[in-house]
Amino acid sequence: MWEIQLKDSFAKRYSNGYPLITKDTVQSMPDRMEEGSIVQLTDAKKRFIGKGYYGIQNKGLGWMLTQQQEETIDAAFFKQKIKSALDRRKSFFQDNSTDAFRVFNGEGDGIGGLVIDYFAGSYLIQWYSQGIFTFKSMIVQALDATTDYQAIYEKKRFDTKGQYVEDDDFVKGKRQTFPIIIKESGMRYAVDLNDGAMVGIFLDQRDVRRTIREKYAKNKHVLNTFSYTGAFSVAAALGNAAKTTSVDLAKRSKPKTIEQFSANDIDFEKQDIIVMDVFDYFKYARRKKLLFDLVVLDPPSFARSKKRTFSTAKDYPMLMKEAISITEKQGIIIASTNNASFGMKKFKGFIDKAFRETNTRYTFLEQFSLPNDFRTNPHFPEGNYLKVAVVKKES
Ligand code: SAH
Repeated sequence: MWEIQLKDSFAKRYSNGYPLITKDTVQSMPDRMEEGSIVQLTDAKKRFIGKGYYGIQNKGLGWMLTQQQEETIDAAFFKQKIKSALDRRKSFFQDNSTDAFRVFNGEGDGIGGLVIDYFAGSYLIQWYSQGIFTFKSMIVQALDATTDYQAIYEKKRFDTKGQYVEDDDFVKGKRQTFPIIIKESGMRYAVDLNDGAMVGIFLDQRDVRRTIREKYAKNKHVLNTFSYTGAFSVAAALGNAAKTTSVDLAKRSKPKTIEQFSANDIDFEKQDIIVMDVFDYFKYARRKKLLFDLVVLDPPSFARSKKRTFSTAKDYPMLMKEAISITEKQGIIIASTNNASFGMKKFKGFIDKAFRETNTRYTFLEQFSLPNDFRTNPHFPEGNYLKVAVVKKES
């Protein structure tokens, strides 16, 4: 077995259960290791710390999978992890109003780099490194032996130089005709598991969508920025918003948003769906003196358009100031980010900064992080990436 010796100063962290193997913590490792190799992690005195696999992904070099020396990483190991993950989601499988959720959340369920979602009878497996992908047949078999399904699809999220290259993501079962319609808290969303990198909905925002529908939308003029397929707009419209405006730069967002409204029998012609750079839209709205009662801000962590690059870690206060400028007094802003590089405290600091710099008073109403199906590992806080704050602009 390959051995990765960890620096003394980090050994403790891994003994305590930190699962991600990163370059800066390695003292020595073999020169040529293959993706998917099982590795033993040891301290400076070569004492056993844990076992894991080598697989390069954006975050690190691989993941620790067990701290028990006798445990072997084999078919039985994967089967046991997948079975316990499915068991933990029992309440989701039994919930009649929702049939799309995460069943396996990487290191939160004991295997970093592996994510499995359930969409109305079908599974989507996401592989975050070539290393974890080498275990594909064992993992697919484990899923197959543990649960019933219509079909299994997959996405490779590695080594494609930022490009999505697969043209067929089908793995096993009976090919589905897409879009399929999934249910979420009684709402309906069109999903396509075989159409590029994204499927049409981000499951981690489920609680926020339900809250918008139930609490914040009624009779409101709603602006949904970075709207993608308009999932938040659908929730607002079903919550009896006066009107929704969805803004996204991607041309495909418009037909996709029409599809989501139509799946819920909402007349999309009564809603605004605008293909535009959000920053241009803010300018446009100010010029036209448009004000909204509810503004949803959920940008990607990084975005590059023709005009600018944007990073939430740097630019969130600026973005928030733009949002404040077109929000009515007593209006609500739902500010969200999935950037794992900072925590809730810093995020709230960004929001506070934006209000201070615009001399605006605000009240903090509530916050959200990942829903329960996105199980996280207590030793890996950066895995708990989602931060959503609901604030009210006072004056
Ligand atoms: N809030 C959405 C998910 C957003 S994904 C939801 O919950 O469903 C990020 C989206 O931002 C993508 O659809 C992308 O096209 C869009 N985007 C990135 N940069 C943008 C910009 N400058 N202006 C408008 N949209 C942008």
